[in-house]
Amino acid sequence: MTRKLIVGNWKMYPTLADSLVLAASFKKSLEDINGVEVVLAPPTAWLVPVIEAWRHPLPHVSFAAQNVWSDDQGAYTGETSAYLLKNIIDYAIVGHSERRRYGGEDNDLVHQKVQACLKWGIKPILCVGEPKKMIDAEGRIDSYLWQKVAEQLLEGIAPVKADQLSKVTVAYEPIWEIGTTTAAEPEYILQVIAKLKEKLAEKYGAATAGMVRFLYGGSVTADNASGILRYSDVGGLLVGGASVKAKDFLQICRLAAKSV
Ligand code: PEP
Repeated sequence: MTRKLIVGNWKMYPTLADSLVLAASFKKSLEDINGVEVVLAPPTAWLVPVIEAWRHPLPHVSFAAQNVWSDDQGAYTGETSAYLLKNIIDYAIVGHSERRRYGGEDNDLVHQKVQACLKWGIKPILCVGEPKKMIDAEGRIDSYLWQKVAEQLLEGIAPVKADQLSKVTVAYEPIWEIGTTTAAEPEYILQVIAKLKEKLAEKYGAATAGMVRFLYGGSVTADNASGILRYSDVGGLLVGGASVKAKDFLQICRLAAKSV
């Protein structure tokens, strides 16, 4: 069985000093937490100092950028491209709802970022999600909202070649649950992930689509993680706020290692 993937998105929270303390604490504890794959995404400015301080790599821990730019080099003030980051990181989060909201990113740009990552050997973590609850208590789906999420997935990925699909991870993040105090109900998460998988299977065939790992993200904590991780359709978690609380994040990693 594949190990769960736990991604810690530190967002724009920790200072350099905080990041080094966090990384040191993760390094020490993660040595003993096997059976899980962990990806840490510090703010871009701290990627290199954190990785340098990490020194001896752990085989199950790698680093991600929270965002990349799609063109390799050029006059893009303030941006950092997948090309420039290619030897530094293994993963990159792309199309996070905060980038779509504050950076005005659309599916086309997100797709170019996915392509740039794949071109330079970086595994993209493509974020998709709806702004408000789209399934009601009777299980009825709001077709407009669902259409938008399905477009984020298909337009974000397509036309990635089938042999590259296995390098893509999809993070399903209902935006209405990000940064709140509760995660979405597991039934809700499973229903959406199943529909997203169906969409991919329609386009790429079940076998190829089956290689794509789906994560859940949205107010994951040490208290609600195991209730979500226990399902095999959930390949792991994208953790925001709780990823900069060392005790909580490590507990989530422990739970993930147990739920393989
Ligand atoms: C995120 O940053 O993707 C996220 C899910 O944040 P939080 O866990 O804080 O809701």
